[in-house]
Amino acid sequence: MNVVVSMMAPEGRKVYHRPDCMYVKRMKPRNRMTLPRKQAVECGCRCCRYCGGLQGEMRRTEQLHAWECEYRMSLDYVEKTDTLYVRTDTGCWKIFSRRGEDLYLLYHRNTYGRSMTLEQVIQGAYHRQGDVKPSETLMKLMRYIADHDRAKRIIRDDYRKLPQYTKRQRKYYRQAERRVRRAEQRQSRQRMEDLFREIEAKDPEMRKLAFC
Ligand SMILES: [Zn+2]
Repeated sequence: MNVVVSMMAPEGRKVYHRPDCMYVKRMKPRNRMTLPRKQAVECGCRCCRYCGGLQGEMRRTEQLHAWECEYRMSLDYVEKTDTLYVRTDTGCWKIFSRRGEDLYLLYHRNTYGRSMTLEQVIQGAYHRQGDVKPSETLMKLMRYIADHDRAKRIIRDDYRKLPQYTKRQRKYYRQAERRVRRAEQRQSRQRMEDLFREIEAKDPEMRKLAFC
């Protein structure tokens, strides 16, 4: 992600902004320096208090609204804990950044029901989404969530329709395949057990024949 730094700011007090920050618009164009965020951090710049972090993202209401519409998700920002909760029709996620790092981390809720209130969503247990690296932008995480939950919906219908173009997609395919196979095995075991229970109920003598 590229950020903008004012060339006129005194050393030691340099701040970096998102390109669309209102403070960038106030700088004279010739004083604006655009550089990768990582490089700005290495040069000792801090992130802007207005446009930086999740709080800054929450000011970009048009972008938030576009994600909500395009990815069919609902977003709830809790200012007190500086955490963003993201819900789709199949999953529930939270995003926050570790203090001082300015990188977003993605967590997935272990259980989720669509009728949950925000309170219930906040109180639940989450795990770090293992295959997602800390991200400089929210955009990447939003896309990940949308893809992940779309795949989950397909699995629910039929995992064989899942795309298998990328390595990650093939991994999901195999995971889904295993999950379905395990469920089928569970089902057939259950049927056997039910059958034996029924036979034994009819004829208690049968139980003596069972050796496990
Ligand atoms: Zn700014």
